[in-house]
Amino acid sequence: MTINDAAPTIISARGLQHSFGSTQALRGIDLDVHAGEVLAIMGPSGSGKSTLLHCLAGVMKPDGGSVAYSPAGRTPLEVSALPESKRTRLRLTDFGFVFQFGQLLPELSAEDNVSIPLLLNGIKRPEALRRSTELLERLGLDGLGSKLPGELSGGQAQRVAVARSLVTSPSVLFADEPTGALDSLASENVLTVMLDLVRDSGTTVVMITHDARTAAYADREVMVRDGAMGAGYRVSA
Ligand code: ADP
Repeated sequence: MTINDAAPTIISARGLQHSFGSTQALRGIDLDVHAGEVLAIMGPSGSGKSTLLHCLAGVMKPDGGSVAYSPAGRTPLEVSALPESKRTRLRLTDFGFVFQFGQLLPELSAEDNVSIPLLLNGIKRPEALRRSTELLERLGLDGLGSKLPGELSGGQAQRVAVARSLVTSPSVLFADEPTGALDSLASENVLTVMLDLVRDSGTTVVMITHDARTAAYADREVMVRDGAMGAGYRVSA
């Protein structure tokens, strides 16, 4: 989208390479993510999408190349050069994550699941619960905060996972097939509430999907094929 092409770059990857044994998962990827955009990463299974996402988010260090993170008003960081402890801290303070299977802790209530990132950031439990309940309400889950994940539908549980990923107001939300396990109605529902929230707050989203209908919610799509940027990749301004 033109509007986002003009926005500053929040994440910039250059020459990303990574191998697992003899499998070259990434073969020199360049990618700019603009602040505030919703970017869909598409591509066939095994093409390197998750490896790319993990490198962008500092979950793993690439074998080669660099990832720079430039949050507004702060000194840019070379994420790919940070030690594990600093990358872990950065993921907690600046990034949110949502996966295909929500990965909620089954023995904790919805509101306790959502509170976890706040507690890890040193926020006291009453305040964490207050913020969690408020966010669950915004996601249409009023009154369900005390339910265990097993007592919720797939779509409701995924909305709890979305709440957990956004409760710390991250700069960037990384989503790996966030609705891949849901039927189309539930999927649409989760995407709509998730994207309403991020567009309200200006959160940048990097979302992996293999589904064109899901990608249609994004501002921009890039295509990964065989560890490289494939056709469909639009170079930003
Ligand atoms: P995608 O997300 O597009 O399905 P991945 O990034 O998961 O692709 O994987 C890219 C390639 O790297 C695939 O060939 C996959 O089998 C391989 N791969 C990914 N993770 C590992 C791992 N932990 N160990 C070995 N091979 C891996």
